[in-house]
Amino acid sequence: MPNPLRHGEPKIIAIANQKGGVGKTTTSINLGAALAKMGNRVLLIDLDPQGNASTGLGIGSERRNATTYDLLVNESPLSEVIQHTDVLNLDIVPATTDLSSADIELLSNEKRSFLLHDALRQPAMAGFGFDFILIDCPPSLNLLTVNAMVSAHSVLVPLQSEFFALEGLSQLMLTVREVRDTANSGLRIEGIVLTMYDRRNNLSQHVEADARENLGDLVFKTVIPRNVRVSEAPSYAMPVVDYDPSSKGSLAYLSVAKELVDRHNAVKSRG
Ligand code: ADP
Ligand code: MG
Repeated sequence: MPNPLRHGEPKIIAIANQKGGVGKTTTSINLGAALAKMGNRVLLIDLDPQGNASTGLGIGSERRNATTYDLLVNESPLSEVIQHTDVLNLDIVPATTDLSSADIELLSNEKRSFLLHDALRQPAMAGFGFDFILIDCPPSLNLLTVNAMVSAHSVLVPLQSEFFALEGLSQLMLTVREVRDTANSGLRIEGIVLTMYDRRNNLSQHVEADARENLGDLVFKTVIPRNVRVSEAPSYAMPVVDYDPSSKGSLAYLSVAKELVDRHNAVKSRG
């Protein structure tokens, strides 16, 4: 597939939802790996102090000497914090629990909302040749998530196919609007991806119908099924697209990646 972004700036996507356990990290890892499999160079920023994306890609604590915390708080150069994963074309900036104190430590910093924005725009970024940067956000609308939204071109929202799924969305959209009004007027909603979808469950179908009715084309056509291979993969330190390439979960993430690239091409050719 021709790569629309090869010589351009990386497209920066924040993967956010203030609810925990909705599939942010799973989507970050697997969308990242799927985009990489399509030939894109991808950087994943682990912005959650829990460091699940780092763990899920096999970056153990012994390999977390330079982290997202250093990038934000110590203004470390990109070359010091970016490392390869075992997935070809997928790099990561790992996170540790240090990051949980950044929120408070940065309160007195005037540029506190722009730290990630500025870090990702270090002149050295061009040399890495990334096509996509995905940011795995923490389960909160805190300063870290605001940093992600200020730095990003768009926000991708994983939505778990369960009863209260749509309720948290208005709060999230409010934060997006605030960031747009104050710091990043170009911020778009990339889309909503329904996760942990169970076709046999009426509730899943209900949430999907509701989401498509209210949010229209913002909802990706592909839904991510609840699939045990997806939940097993991190314990083998692999994305599901490598752990079990033909599983339903793997095929779904490859399909989301394709939709994302197609949408991006459509936006490019329009304008
Ligand atoms: P978040 O980052 O939003 O907190 P995670 O991506 O960590 O959410 O997912 C929460 C839990 O659900 C994890 O244990 C993960 O393995 C599991 N999970 C996520 N997506 C799926 C899926 N499609 N099928 C089965 N389990 C999933
Ligand atoms: Mg997570």
